[in-house]
Order: sequence, then C-alpha cells, then structure tokens
Amino acid sequence: MKIKQWTAWLLFFGLIGQLQAQTGVKAMVGGTLIDGFGGKPLHNSVILIENDKITAVGQVGQLDIPAGAEIISTEGMSVLPGLWEMHSHLMLVGHSDYAHWDTAYIEQFRDVVMPAAAKQLLHAGVTSTRDLGGPLEELLYVREQINEGKLEGATIYTSGPFIQKKPYPGTEKFRWGVENPDDARAKVRKLALAGVDCIKLIDQDQMSMEEIKAIVEEAHAHNLKVVAHSHRPEEIRRGLIAGVDCFEHTGQATAPEYAADVMEMIKERTASGKTLFWTPTISVLWNYTYFRDNPEAFDDPSWMEGLPENMVKDIRTSLNDPQTLPYYMMVPARKPTLRRKFEQLATSGAILMTGTDAGVPMTFHSSSTWRELDLWVRELGIAPLDAIKSATYWPARSRTTFSKSSWYATPISTHPRRACGSSATLSPSARKTCRSSIPSVFRATTFKRRARTPLWNWLTL
Ligand SMILES: [Zn+2]
Repeated sequence: MKIKQWTAWLLFFGLIGQLQAQTGVKAMVGGTLIDGFGGKPLHNSVILIENDKITAVGQVGQLDIPAGAEIISTEGMSVLPGLWEMHSHLMLVGHSDYAHWDTAYIEQFRDVVMPAAAKQLLHAGVTSTRDLGGPLEELLYVREQINEGKLEGATIYTSGPFIQKKPYPGTEKFRWGVENPDDARAKVRKLALAGVDCIKLIDQDQMSMEEIKAIVEEAHAHNLKVVAHSHRPEEIRRGLIAGVDCFEHTGQATAPEYAADVMEMIKERTASGKTLFWTPTISVLWNYTYFRDNPEAFDDPSWMEGLPENMVKDIRTSLNDPQTLPYYMMVPARKPTLRRKFEQLATSGAILMTGTDAGVPMTFHSSSTWRELDLWVRELGIAPLDAIKSATYWPARSRTTFSKSSWYATPISTHPRRACGSSATLSPSARKTCRSSIPSVFRATTFKRRARTPLWNWLTL
C-alpha cells in the first residue's frame, strides 16, 4: 500500500509492531491521544480503525464502539502518529569512511543496507522517512518492497540521487552532474518519470542561476518539491531566488549566525505566504562531542540489526577514534553557533521539521530521530507538542494537503509493559518487535551524560 497523504499511523511511543491489516473494526481505547496537530492531548481516547483507515476519534463515553469491534486497550499509554525522519540516507549506516563504504558495499545497498536501515527506523518509531540522496534504482526497489509489504520498514519517500554541478569522483551512481540548463531539465525529468518523490539539490552555489531555475521549474512542473542544501550563504540566496521548497541543515560553517541579508531574504519569502520548510538536522552536530567522549552508544545492538557481522565489525572499527574523523573535524568550532542559528530559523517564519542526516558517521537510524526531538525540547526550548508536530503533522503537510478521509492506521506499536509479549492483540511479529525495540530506547537514553528524564516520559503526558 502506498501512502501518499497524511499518515496517521498510530504508535504508542517506544515500541513498534505491525498488526496485519484485517477486516473488521479495531478500537484503541483508554490512552491519551496526541494527534500531532499541536493541540491539547485527548485523555481517555477512543480511536476506531476499519481496515487500514482511522474512521473516528473521540473519548470514552462519547464515541460509541461498534459491537464486535476488537478492543485494544491503550490505558496508561500515549498514542501518537508515527514519526517522520525527514532527512535520511538509507545507503549509509554510520560508517565513518564514505570512500571505503561506497567501494566495499555498494553491491549490498539494495538487498542488505537499505532494508536494514528502513527496518531500524521503523523499530525506532519512525513510520515514514524522506531519503535525500542515494542510488535511484536501489531506493525505488526497496521503497516498493516496503509498500508491497514484502519488507518491514518505514515508508520511503526519496529524491534518488543528489543533483549537483559535478559529482565527486567515484560517486556518479548517486550524484548526478548538471552540464547546462537543458541537461538540468533532462535529469529532473528522468527522475520524475522514474517516480521519485522530490528533488535533492546541493552545491547550487556552483551552478548558474539558469541551471538552478531550470531544476526548480522542471521539478514543480512534475509536482515535485525541491529540497536544497543551505551550507553556504549563496546556496540559500540562490535557492530562495529560484523558489526551492525546503532547506536542509544549519550550515554557514563556523560563522556565528546567518548573515543579515540572508535572514531578510528568508523573511521576505515566509512573508509572501509561500511556505518555506527547513530541516535543521542539528543533533548530528550538537551531539558529536558527547559521543566522542562517551562512545557507549556505538555498542548499542539496535544499529546492528539486519546487518551482517563483518559489516558491523567494519563500521564499529571505523568509529574507534571519533576525535580523528575528518567528517566532524570542524564541529566543535561550529557547536557554539548552533543555538543562535536554530533560533534565527525558528523565528524566521520557516517551518522546521525533524530530520537528522541518519546514516552519516556515528548517526544511526535506530536512534537519531528521537535524539533530534530530545535536543529541540531540552536544549533549544521547543515545546514538546510542537516538537511532535514537527515530526508528524508538518512532514505530512509538506508533502500534500490532506483531509481526515486519508488517515491511515497501520502499523501499530505498543507499550512494552502492557502489551509486549502478552497481548493477544499483537501479531507474533509485533511481539517480537516489542521485545527488540523498547530496550534500545531506554538503553540509548540511559547513556546520556546528565541525569535526564527519558524522552518517553514527556511523551507520556
Ligand atoms: Zn544528507
């Protein structure tokens, strides 16, 4: 089943398990519903699900439960839409050396690496992900396998390859260069016809304005959004002039903040009423020094799930000396600037979404999304319900307009203490998932430097 609209895949935070689509009505009864719209949670909620659709939402005593409905107790739990990871790379699973990774494992991307990454996301509460850069055929293949129910994993939306001025040597399979405006249009058309879900544009400051405009126009003509990097000021300026829909990362290297003229341009855009989305992917930078000094999370088996032993060993070895990783060399100098940049974006009128660059060195699909949410709430002052909205409502909204008639309700996950391993309402695979997933949430949380309340607690309002 391909889900194109608002995805209200419900989960009880912490664990994911998949209930098989069945005919008949299911009623999830008793828990606190956080619907992702940002409003007040609904206590003693009732959610009616028919086949794979949510047909009604209400409260105990107010919404009738049809006779014969299968009742799934959600008492003591919080119920919320499945999370979206808006910036992932399924071809990557944390190895620190891209040149080695691409050479050694590219043949295994389709059948091993991407399925494992998609499954790890799902087991971490992420039911949808936007992959922003990888080989086209492999990504589309895995996307379809999951849509058809042949693989267990987060629903994938993908750009396929990066579009950039020139691919870096050896990366031609997933980085497509652009010779001129006509070539740019042709590349975008090819991707559109292949069935990608968006276009990923990077290094646009190395392109001519004509080339950038050609990419955005052609993408929009095919009803595809353009997602672009924002590392350098000129990438943002040119992207805004051409009309890109969403920027990624915080960027601007070690500069203390976004330049005044860049902020003016961003505000001009947001004032125009044409929504500007932004995925700051901030935790990957913010948490680097913590992981460098406290690498226990590198031994967390949740990121190893689905990967062969030799691959796991190779990844783990590549992280043995995190302070020497070239990927993160400048990050300690960038970290002090991140709060200010995040504040600038958060108050610019841009709509921020949750994404993490999952898959890049030390950043695992099995935990990166909740770390981003955790950071937004604990360090950056975002209200919990707004953070949830950035990982549910806004990602869905960024893809399309939606109506209540397009709310879906698979898969379902559940709280361990109540349902895992004991509830007859869970399929065997859901029970298995319960056992494997929740410990990883708590494990990961336990290792945080300061005594912190686990993320799960604030989700259990
Ligand atoms: Zn990325």
